[in-house]
Amino acid sequence: MLQDLSFGTLDNQYRHHLPAEDDLAVCVRGNEILLHRDTQGILHLPTVAQAQSWCTDWPQWLDEPFRYVFTLQDRRFFLWFGAAGDCPDETYSYIATAVLREPASKDLCFGLMTAWHLYCWYRDNRFCGRCGTPTAHDSKERMMRCPNCGNMIFPRIAPAAIIALTHGDKLMLSKYANRNYTRYGLLAGFIEIGETAEEAVAREVMEEVGLPVKNIRYYKSQPWGIAGNLSVGYFCDLDGDNDTVTLDENELASAEWFPRDGIPAEDDGISLTREMIRLFAEGNEPK
Ligand SMILES: [Zn+2]
Repeated sequence: MLQDLSFGTLDNQYRHHLPAEDDLAVCVRGNEILLHRDTQGILHLPTVAQAQSWCTDWPQWLDEPFRYVFTLQDRRFFLWFGAAGDCPDETYSYIATAVLREPASKDLCFGLMTAWHLYCWYRDNRFCGRCGTPTAHDSKERMMRCPNCGNMIFPRIAPAAIIALTHGDKLMLSKYANRNYTRYGLLAGFIEIGETAEEAVAREVMEEVGLPVKNIRYYKSQPWGIAGNLSVGYFCDLDGDNDTVTLDENELASAEWFPRDGIPAEDDGISLTREMIRLFAEGNEPK
């Protein structure tokens, strides 16, 4: 999966580092990140020195243009809040975050998904939600603090259940309605306040395809920062023999049963969803 790095680790403990010239800069514009694609198709970030030379302005609400986020495979990543205009170096361009599932640049994509999640949290917590005062970064941990009312704002993660619904040698695959992502996936949905992950699995399956489930079992989880999620994967079995789908057409364009030897989806090594589909196709799903 995306977070399974080819070497090294992600060290995301907060520290108040100042940037060095050869650290990496994550420059964001809207839903795009500034990247260079080399002749082999591999993605690269600019260094802090490059970012610094291209743009010296940054929003008034920031005391510093950079924010250290983590160290990935011994390279330090900094969010750079100064990027807004076109990059003068034409070998770099702003690329939509949808690019962050490219197997050829897997390690960097995992770093960028994580940086994106943190970027969105910083962007959206400039003001205290309780009293409206501008917030300031805590000096010791990753937390925004309100100097007026003392509100402490920590990074938020939204847990979402990924659900492989099986019935004997059949697996339920679905396609989203009204999304750019049009490939087959598994049933999925956010875990609501006040319910367990297992309750969310049963509720989502009932809501999306109108079927009861049993034998709900946890598989693995995956950070999915592009959507601010932690994906939590579960396998479960249809309860009973009636496998007729009642589709929630607001959520899904289709939901169909596929036999184990006729699964129309490959594991791209990126998502938990694809790994779970492959396990079923191989007959290796947790029983
Ligand atoms: Zn406040």
